[in-house]
Amino acid sequence: KSTATLIEKQKSNITFDDVAGLEEAEMEVKEIVDFLKSPETFTKLGAKIPKGVILVGPPGTGKTLLAKAVAGEAQVPFFTISGSEFVEMFVGVGASRVRDLFKRAKEKAPCIIFIDEIDAIGRSRGKGAFLSGANDERESTLNQLLTEMDGFGTNSGVIVLAATNRADMLDPALLRPGRFDRHIYLELPNMKEREEIFKVHLRPLILDNTIDPRFLASQTPGFSGADIANICNESALIAARKKKEKIDRQDFLDAIDRIVAGLEKKSKIISAAE
Ligand code: ATP
Repeated sequence: KSTATLIEKQKSNITFDDVAGLEEAEMEVKEIVDFLKSPETFTKLGAKIPKGVILVGPPGTGKTLLAKAVAGEAQVPFFTISGSEFVEMFVGVGASRVRDLFKRAKEKAPCIIFIDEIDAIGRSRGKGAFLSGANDERESTLNQLLTEMDGFGTNSGVIVLAATNRADMLDPALLRPGRFDRHIYLELPNMKEREEIFKVHLRPLILDNTIDPRFLASQTPGFSGADIANICNESALIAARKKKEKIDRQDFLDAIDRIVAGLEKKSKIISAAE
């Protein structure tokens, strides 16, 4: 794969309408939308617009979704890159990709750069059992990222959003002022929040009148937004396979069982590997 094909530029059609149950995080990212849409409001008073924001939260809680919603709401391009891809790369490639990414983004400002799984490159030095080659590569990628973050002006119109499951693992150098100095926390949804997330994902489905988002929320403690999206789609597949006209409660219960079984299997594999 060439460098160019690995960096994706997207237009995001996602809006805050697609995000549910993340009220606090949403309020914080709304500020970023304002920075992108009308930077002068802030800069004319002498304010420096933040360059880097880290979204922290368990898998499937909507970090990527929220970053896309920022781009969609501000109507700016969205460049995305995943930290884990770097780990498999040849020496030198990661750093040049980072350089490339920032160069392209600056040309398209205002815009968002989204770095998923930033912990794969930004893990505290010396932590994690890496082969030394992979570690050197990771370090040179991290250094390039730090250089780029320092290099672009505060008011360049590029805002870098990054996602991680574990902020405590990150190299402190990444978190210094002028780099990723803002953190936004996302958590697994509570009952009310799961109900709201169900409502979003039930919207496109053909349902019969036995479906109650509150009941579904009560059946899914501990589930993430991604799990809920999954259940909604799975229940539609189950109903379709049974040639039903509408999706009913039983299809949802079957889908929940299936997802629970899948989660249990996954956790067994993980605990067996430990
Ligand atoms: P990971 O850490 O695994 O990358 P993530 O936090 O980035 O996960 P997303 O990729 O944003 O999670 O979530 C996956 C999908 O789950 C989304 O595209 C969306 O369909 C659904 N989803 C997750 N959270 C929410 C939410 N709060 N509201 C609505 N949908 C959600």
